Amino acid sequence: MSLSPDRIRQIQELVVGRARVAVPLSRYTSFRIGGPADLVVEPADAQGLAALLRYVDENRLSFLLLGAGTNVLFHDDGFRGVVIRTCSLGGFRVNENGFDYARVTVGAGTPLPYVVNQTARLGLDGMAQLWGIPGSFGGAVVTNAGAGGSCMGDLLIHVKLMTLSGAEISLDAGDLDSRYRRMKLPQSAAVLEGTVRLRRGDTDVINQAIEQARTRRRATQPINRPSAGCVFKNPSPDKPAGMLIDRLGFKGEGVGDAQVSELHANFIINRGRATAAQVLELIERIRSRVRSEEGIELELEVSVIGVEPDHA
Ligand SMILES: Cc1cc2nc3c(=O)[nH]c(=O)nc-3n(C[C@H](O)[C@H](O)[C@H](O)COP(=O)(O)OP(=O)(O)OC[C@H]3O[C@@H](n4cnc5c(N)ncnc54)[C@H](O)[C@@H]3O)c2cc1C
Repeated sequence: MSLSPDRIRQIQELVVGRARVAVPLSRYTSFRIGGPADLVVEPADAQGLAALLRYVDENRLSFLLLGAGTNVLFHDDGFRGVVIRTCSLGGFRVNENGFDYARVTVGAGTPLPYVVNQTARLGLDGMAQLWGIPGSFGGAVVTNAGAGGSCMGDLLIHVKLMTLSGAEISLDAGDLDSRYRRMKLPQSAAVLEGTVRLRRGDTDVINQAIEQARTRRRATQPINRPSAGCVFKNPSPDKPAGMLIDRLGFKGEGVGDAQVSELHANFIINRGRATAAQVLELIERIRSRVRSEEGIELELEVSVIGVEPDHA
């Protein structure tokens, strides 16, 4: 159900921060796909987020937390409810400087590429492999983002969350239960910030690792085309989804403007005017061939939002 004008006005009065009505979600995603959301709100700080979460909870409104939108596919009909963007919940501070390590606390809305570059500049080792992952820090925590054998779950020692009542709770690494591209967090909680523990290293060596990650990504991924990164999770380390899809000859196959990348078969790119329906049709084609010819059920890595569960 759409939000009524009254509700929209109440939220706009309640929350300090930008709030836009009926704005296309394609603007907020790296896929450049998605119909309008009733309301997109960017709380200016944690207090604003707390007020908004309490409001949506008390009034039983649908809501969605959105970081940089680099791992989502929104439906062409958009989202009925409130999309809460975390982009203003920034922050980056070194809060413990040990002899051979440091602890760095980062706000959910801070871009992950900034964190990778800043920690490298400070001679802190551990994040270079994550170079090129384009999301927010909070999104990286939730998706347990990773690359080149390193992932957020290995680095995090502490996460601060906000519950629907606006209360802040802290979880230590041991409570996080991180798995491949998944972090088990309390349902509906917003990630406010996270703390990583990084070793002191040699800046030149860290920069070399970044350079290698950059070269690898540029050679193997369509980083300049709109996409949401890898569409499917790898069924196992020795059976990457991209390899399975490539083997079945899908590279270059398209539905409308949605196309399997020629460079990396696990990426679907938007060649201009792709719709969510086209992407989903392509996803179904791939899944069904991989199922029938390889006997493997591919699981989505991208979060599909606003569609019936049998498509998601
Ligand atoms: C070109 C390209 C390359 C990529 N390469 C990689 C890669 O190598 N490795 C990898 O792991 N991923 C990769 N990705 C996917 C994506 O960048 C990561 O998953 C990223 O961490 C998502 O962050 P985000 O802020 O964009 O999250 P979003 O897409 O905004 O959200 C992802 C999910 O997290 C939830 N969420 C976001 N922020 C919060 C919050 N603060 N609190 C609670 N829930 C929240 C959302 O509701 C959603 O369910 C790539 C994507 C692209 C486009």
